[in-house]
Amino acid sequence: MATTAFWNTDLSTPLMGLRPKLWIAVGRDYSREDVKQWILESHTAGGLSHFGVLSLPQLAAQILGVPREQIATRSMRQEALRLLMRPKAVHHRLPELKRLKRQRTFFRKLDRAIQNGRSAFAHADEAQVFSERLREKLGPSALRSELEFLGDLFQTWLEAAGLWDDPRLLEEARKKIQESGWPEGQPQPEKMLWISQHRPDARSESFLGACAQVFTIERPQLLTTQKPVTTWQRWHTVDDAAEALAERFASYKNQADTDLVDDVVLIPEDPEVKRALQRALALRGVPILDPRDPLGPRKEEALKHALLPLQLAASRFERESVVSFVRGRAGDPKLPQDYVREIYARGIHEGLASYAGGKLTALHEELTRIAAAFKPRQRLDQIAEAHLKILKDQKVSPRVLRFFEKFWNDWWQEWKILGESHRRAPFVYWWERLRDRWDGTTGWIEPLRPTFGARIYRSTQSPPPQSTPIRRLWVLGLPADTLDEPVGDYWFTNRDREILSGEFQVLSRFELRQERLNILKAWVHSSENVCFLDNHWTTDGKESDSLMPLLKEIDIEQEWVREDRGSHPRWLASLTRLPPVQPQKIDLSQNFTQGADIRLKAGALDDLSRCGFLALGRHRWKCRNLEEPDIELPPHIKGILLHQAVEELVRHRDGHGLFSITSEEALDRAWKKRAPQGLLQGLRLQGYVKKNLIEVLDSFSEDEAKYIERAQTRVLSLENDLKLTMKFPEGSVSGRPDRIDLHPQGVFVIDYKTSSDVPTGKRMLQDAYRLQMPFYALAAQQHFKKAALGLQFICLTRKSSRSRGVFFKDLNGKQPGSLTQLMARNASLLDLPREEVWSTFETQIRELLAKYAQGQFTTDPKDPRSECRSCSLRDSCGRNRLTAEAEDTVS
Ligand code: SF4
Repeated sequence: MATTAFWNTDLSTPLMGLRPKLWIAVGRDYSREDVKQWILESHTAGGLSHFGVLSLPQLAAQILGVPREQIATRSMRQEALRLLMRPKAVHHRLPELKRLKRQRTFFRKLDRAIQNGRSAFAHADEAQVFSERLREKLGPSALRSELEFLGDLFQTWLEAAGLWDDPRLLEEARKKIQESGWPEGQPQPEKMLWISQHRPDARSESFLGACAQVFTIERPQLLTTQKPVTTWQRWHTVDDAAEALAERFASYKNQADTDLVDDVVLIPEDPEVKRALQRALALRGVPILDPRDPLGPRKEEALKHALLPLQLAASRFERESVVSFVRGRAGDPKLPQDYVREIYARGIHEGLASYAGGKLTALHEELTRIAAAFKPRQRLDQIAEAHLKILKDQKVSPRVLRFFEKFWNDWWQEWKILGESHRRAPFVYWWERLRDRWDGTTGWIEPLRPTFGARIYRSTQSPPPQSTPIRRLWVLGLPADTLDEPVGDYWFTNRDREILSGEFQVLSRFELRQERLNILKAWVHSSENVCFLDNHWTTDGKESDSLMPLLKEIDIEQEWVREDRGSHPRWLASLTRLPPVQPQKIDLSQNFTQGADIRLKAGALDDLSRCGFLALGRHRWKCRNLEEPDIELPPHIKGILLHQAVEELVRHRDGHGLFSITSEEALDRAWKKRAPQGLLQGLRLQGYVKKNLIEVLDSFSEDEAKYIERAQTRVLSLENDLKLTMKFPEGSVSGRPDRIDLHPQGVFVIDYKTSSDVPTGKRMLQDAYRLQMPFYALAAQQHFKKAALGLQFICLTRKSSRSRGVFFKDLNGKQPGSLTQLMARNASLLDLPREEVWSTFETQIRELLAKYAQGQFTTDPKDPRSECRSCSLRDSCGRNRLTAEAEDTVS
């Protein structure tokens, strides 16, 4: 028989056929598929029977005749532990575990501790000895005692339920062989190879010992005789290294697909490294030979979306879950946006009833159907049926449907075995169980497995058997401490294992380190060329330790020389100190017809006088922020509400400044007319917001009374009464001023602002800044044919400031008829002729209109510190990408 030497053993015993004389048992560091493939490739004649290559628990199950369905899966074991800990009598005996139970992955860790702990001793007597020895050396441990108790309970439960796990299989099979020999009628080899770079645990060792009484057991070593050519490249991050590697693979692919067979990538047990490599390969269309991804279900958008109906019901239709549900729906792309805007506007937090009526009627009906499907206190099969029905109604892809059919079916079968099929529970209970299972769900198998692709192995796996050495081995992202993995758990800590390993077959941290090192050496010495792709920075931003000490331990004859490769060109641009900023001048002259009739709203004129890009974004591109509801009103909504409330107050004020309605009444009327949007629902929250607004209105009323008494004006028009338009040779502007008061000498224009960040008159005039109000003054002058006496910003804040605007000295003072009462040095009080001031403003407005007509827009904020700080377009204009110094330079 033709064989290829890979292990230091004689493989001339027949491996093929229905009754092979040589069996191979593989440890956890080998993939059975790889070993089978190697045998099939190396042996031309005959087929391979199912017991030709197996793991020790599989062999034990075969000896005992245990079918696969009776072997408890990981999720079943975890559920069993949950059930075992539930009775009060048990729970009271486990105070330490009760404390640890708060950890999210508690049952996963507990299951691992029970499995590792039970495998560490060959039988119950040995467990007793372990316990005694540790008590002598370290004193009593409450947690260890609890684990011993729970381990016994778990073993009893397995026996009572007729179920098996690996430690029980190995122990019972050993007993059976020792008591009654090899089972009659069972196929039996002449020789069995145990291949693993790990030393077997105590249970496996005693089982192998029992098998050795029946047939020969050989433990071959790998023939690793290569003297590789080694290189060591250090990249900036693992992403850079992955890009470089993927680029290389992509170039093979273009030449000949089969080239990839010569390469193997070794990665650590770190999902970030795997993700970086997968992303880089996927970007270049390089397939992965075994595309199974343990994170698959958790990453796959289609599966995540299919879970959303359950999440909606469990979260009581919480806003963010509903928004995700809406956004993931197929169909009209505009519909989700409308729904989301309305959901945010209503300030919904949770609750099905919040979605009823209005624009959300159709969505509410859909959510009601979901709510009706998941009734309180259902059984698992009912939940599964309801979920699958929703998925079918949603017409999800057959692949997604098949995945969930299997998911629910597996769970239901386990539940039946656990005797829990009758259990009815609140929906949140099922949701919590489902999330635990989801975290442990393994990736789905791609229906079409590629015939070629990148071969990726984990650094804990031994090199797969193959007839020729690995041509090129790439070791990607291996951390410097990769060998120093702790082995301790809840049952036996690292220290416990160190103490026990001196006397017993217990794996300690030091032995595991040596085993890992042997595996790494085996990889290196099975390859012709080895390249370590190291990274300077870890994925969480820490500086990586040097690989040199680890590389020295690998023990090759060459010197290790590090090549510093820096960053891959794909990421390089993102690392410059000043990230690229989009153009700061936007030329839309092509879109503007020369001589066209330009019509601007007063708000657009105002924005144009603040920053060109602001006007472009807000008024031409109609950019709006989609703001999530909050416990505070969004500023613009607060403005609308206060404007309305102030209008109500002013309409109910007499000539002496007395109001016939209170601030509360004014606010209630405004609240009814302009129902606020974007505020989270809730009466207490409404009460809090209203209280703050009433304080502002009270402050306004107080100052307004003083103003009326002094200025002796009367209201000429309010916001909703009058629209002003003014035509200039360059275009026209129109808008509605908040308020115009009539004074015996002319008109006085007033604007309400909800912020106190308003400019002084001097600043407006000097910089052609905030030109909306000057426009209103000019337009009012023209409309009413009366002189414009000034303009005033009234800040609707608790301070209710009225000291900014454009004022003239002749109407300032304490005497009756004075519009303002300001200090002489106030920067809004101008000592210039009125006509000159209005004429300057008119010129500035016309210049802005002319600039707008040319289609030239520049990010030129007049006051970058105040304008840009809270501007909603910071991302669009590139402001957010500038460093503080650059911001100053640009401004
Ligand atoms: S952030 Fe500043 S520069 Fe950018 S649009 Fe807003 S105001 Fe203009």
